[in-house]
Amino acid sequence: MEKLIITVAPTGAWPTKKDTPYVPTTPQEIADEVYKCWKAGASIAHIHVREDDESPSMNFEKFKETVTLIRDRRDCDIILNLTTSGGLTLIDEERIRPFVELKPEMASFDAGTMNWQHRTVFENRPDFLEKLAQAQKDNNVKPELEIFDAGMLYNTLYLKEKGFLEPPLHYQFCLGVPGGIAATVENFMYLKSILPEGATFSAFAIGKMHLTILFMTIITGGHVRVGMEDNVYLAKGVLAKSNVEFVERVKRIAKEFQREIATPAEARKILVLKMEDS
Ligand code: ZN
Repeated sequence: MEKLIITVAPTGAWPTKKDTPYVPTTPQEIADEVYKCWKAGASIAHIHVREDDESPSMNFEKFKETVTLIRDRRDCDIILNLTTSGGLTLIDEERIRPFVELKPEMASFDAGTMNWQHRTVFENRPDFLEKLAQAQKDNNVKPELEIFDAGMLYNTLYLKEKGFLEPPLHYQFCLGVPGGIAATVENFMYLKSILPEGATFSAFAIGKMHLTILFMTIITGGHVRVGMEDNVYLAKGVLAKSNVEFVERVKRIAKEFQREIATPAEARKILVLKMEDS
């Protein structure tokens, strides 16, 4: 089995210090947390930023500051994956600008529109998806195809057919978000069964099925995403004191299963990332 790529998503759009005092929300806190998670074994950092009041944001200056702080740690070769969805009421250009100007190796690609948590619409219009895919292609940024429901996976097959997405495709199954597909073993296996040939995938679930999906993806050859974007609890009623604790837990599970952890360099090969000088 391929080595296991650990993505850490330390912040996300929603949890604030009221939910958990341990969530990093300033550029300095996020950069420090990413560095510690890289030391622990994470090879990809999925980055969100916040406004000063911790509200979700696509503020370019916050991305720039955060990315610069991470890159200033010269020994840290973690792969940067910038979100294109730092909130729900977004302007296309604001979603695209951070990856175009900061040139991370990856950026997220939410592959369809959904009724988000029965409250509002998470909008990813067909024309926006084409624009996003084209901008990622033009900038050598690998899309991480976030799949909240089966229809979104079929959207990516359509965009691949039309030439907007180039194989090998990389997926992130985001399970258990109300309005999307539920986090069950059966749904996970179904999504895996409709992946295009040659695709790589990672998965996570929010809520109580988090550990089940974590185990499933490790044993079926997928990769994992952990972090406070998706879960702030390490166990029932126990807040994680750092995102590092989630990374350490993955390492313990993977070790028992005898699956090695990929370094960032190995992850670049597995995901076929385009190197800057190629
Ligand atoms: Zn995200």
